[in-house]
Amino acid sequence: LAAALLTVSLTACGQEARGGSRYKPPAGKGGTIGLAMPTKASERWIADGENMAKQFRKAGYETDLQYGDDKVENQIAQIENMITKGRRLLVVAAIDGSALTEVLQRAEDAGIPVISYDRLIMGSEHVDYYASFDNERVGELQARYIVDKLKLGEPAKGAGRPHHIELFAGSPDDNNTKYFWNGAVKVLKPYLDSGQLVVRSGQTRLNQVTTLRWDGGTAQKRMDDLISKNYGDARVDAVLSPYDGISIGIISALKSAGYGTAAQPLPVVTGQDAELASVKSVIRGEQTQTVFKDTRELAAKAVEMGDAVLNGRKPQVNNTKDYHNGKKIVPSFLLDPVSIDRTNTGLLVDEGYFTAGQLK
Ligand code: BGC
Repeated sequence: LAAALLTVSLTACGQEARGGSRYKPPAGKGGTIGLAMPTKASERWIADGENMAKQFRKAGYETDLQYGDDKVENQIAQIENMITKGRRLLVVAAIDGSALTEVLQRAEDAGIPVISYDRLIMGSEHVDYYASFDNERVGELQARYIVDKLKLGEPAKGAGRPHHIELFAGSPDDNNTKYFWNGAVKVLKPYLDSGQLVVRSGQTRLNQVTTLRWDGGTAQKRMDDLISKNYGDARVDAVLSPYDGISIGIISALKSAGYGTAAQPLPVVTGQDAELASVKSVIRGEQTQTVFKDTRELAAKAVEMGDAVLNGRKPQVNNTKDYHNGKKIVPSFLLDPVSIDRTNTGLLVDEGYFTAGQLK
């Protein structure tokens, strides 16, 4: 009953905010936070959701954690439901960053603040803060790894034999995709221009290389196709992959085409998220690299931001220029991603992200 009363009174407060200044959320602790996460198909989002739920509870709130199963309409329905139930704050990792404008208008009308989590929500005024990693840096780390691993040296015309690379990007509806891509291309471009790197498929534009919903199976099919159409006698030396789940698909395709033997070793394959299966693959010498983004730290940032907003304080931000969502610059806090390969997987154990046993 107490919970029901609380919900009713919070909803009422929310409604009073209508038409007034942007929000008048009831200050103080308590009440329920809506956490809208994209999918359980990838470990990272499970960890993000659980970490936030745990940390919000510690900070004195209840949580309503929902996963959209990578279906935009599910996520919209879940957010609508959170608004109806009078959640005090929404933390959203969007499936389609541009599909939430209407539902967020309803959140605004109800006086519910919104934090964009990891992926920037586009096309809405009603995004208060953004907590993420330095997304461009993620792409830079992946591309820099490839350049170093292939020992390309300084970009120069006619320097060394050309190496063959194929490029993959993330989901076209995820705003992060273009940041990862831009970061990577910035590093690779001089080598593509000098001819030290060659994309035999010729697919070098973002709209040719995206992977809808970051799906590993889709990436596997594309890689199968790239190999059979462009690599008769030639060898793939590197694949820029933006995410571990995509890397798994790429590696399967490569193995089916005969890569992964002493005579024909796998190319350099990057990744992102340090998901357990992929870290093990890195240790086995299959996937070459991944990018570690500590979801516990990101969750802590979002909780800190949320708690500040709900208590009338200004959250700490460290970027107020790079994340324009088409309507406004969203004040952001960006954490640092870390490149992981065979030589430093121990860091994940030292940081307590995995136990030594899990990596065996
Ligand atoms: C996240 C990545 C993740 C990808 C697929 C992106 O928005 O920033 O960490 O690999 O989504 O889930």
